[in-house]
Amino acid sequence: MTTKLFDLTGKVAIVTGGNGGIGLGMARGLAQAGAAIAIVGRNEAKSADAVAELAQSGARAIAVAADVTDKAAVAAMAERVVRELGRIDILVNNAGINIRKPPHALDIAEWNSVIQTNLTSAFLCSQAVYPAMKAAGGGKIINIGSMMSIFGASFTPAYAASKGGIVQFTRSCACAWAADNIQANAVLPGWIDTDLTKRARQEIDGLHDRVLARTPAARWGAIGDFAGIAVFLASPASDFLTGTAIPVDGGYSIMG
Ligand code: NDP
Repeated sequence: MTTKLFDLTGKVAIVTGGNGGIGLGMARGLAQAGAAIAIVGRNEAKSADAVAELAQSGARAIAVAADVTDKAAVAAMAERVVRELGRIDILVNNAGINIRKPPHALDIAEWNSVIQTNLTSAFLCSQAVYPAMKAAGGGKIINIGSMMSIFGASFTPAYAASKGGIVQFTRSCACAWAADNIQANAVLPGWIDTDLTKRARQEIDGLHDRVLARTPAARWGAIGDFAGIAVFLASPASDFLTGTAIPVDGGYSIMG
């Protein structure tokens, strides 16, 4: 029997923060390749809209309201996905926030909130889906890092720490679960036009043009730029790829 390289028919994917931005871009790609999708987020109306959109294009999709920093809510989310969609093959740890303050101004609650949303959530969700992935004979974990996984910046201490941590967490899962046929990889987006960056653009003078000047592709990324990488990392095409961190940034990270 030949395996179709990019076919996700019969697979079930969880996308945290899949109700908008990069997560929705990835969910659209995974759905187009045949996967059933569980959209996880706190905003139920936005998740319902995303599910309706995916269903309209023929995908099976459900919305699961959960705060990914809450261990019990994450466990209940994974149980519900197995109950309603039958299995878990793909996990996209995408939910994320940023608080822009220099290290001397960031308070502990803000630090904890960013670390928990961006990093601890990936640990909780990966741990929660592991038994189901193992039972399914393998799986794919896609963790969303950032250019801040590589670079530092004055105003993003917690965000950069969380995104650096994501890469090392990805490598750890890749090592620990390779024998279970689970591959874990990270995607490092450049500057992407989403709600998250809308605020940064309002707050930072000249940001829009500086990103254009620094990016070889000479444009901001769009959420559609993440459909293909999601399908690749979720599909048999990437079965021998694990523990990597792949920039999807129009060349931003290779500019000297
Ligand atoms: P958005 O703000 O558009 O989306 C963030 C998503 O995360 C929302 O769907 C939100 O859903 C969800 N979310 C946030 N907190 C929680 C929580 N506690 N529990 C469950 N869901 C949560 O951001 P982006 O699409 O831009 O970002 C997605 C990921 O990509 C993030 O990890 C971000 O750090 C990363 N990234 C983004 C870049 C960019 O330029 N945009 C660059 C590099 C990395 P809800 O509000 O319903 O909970």
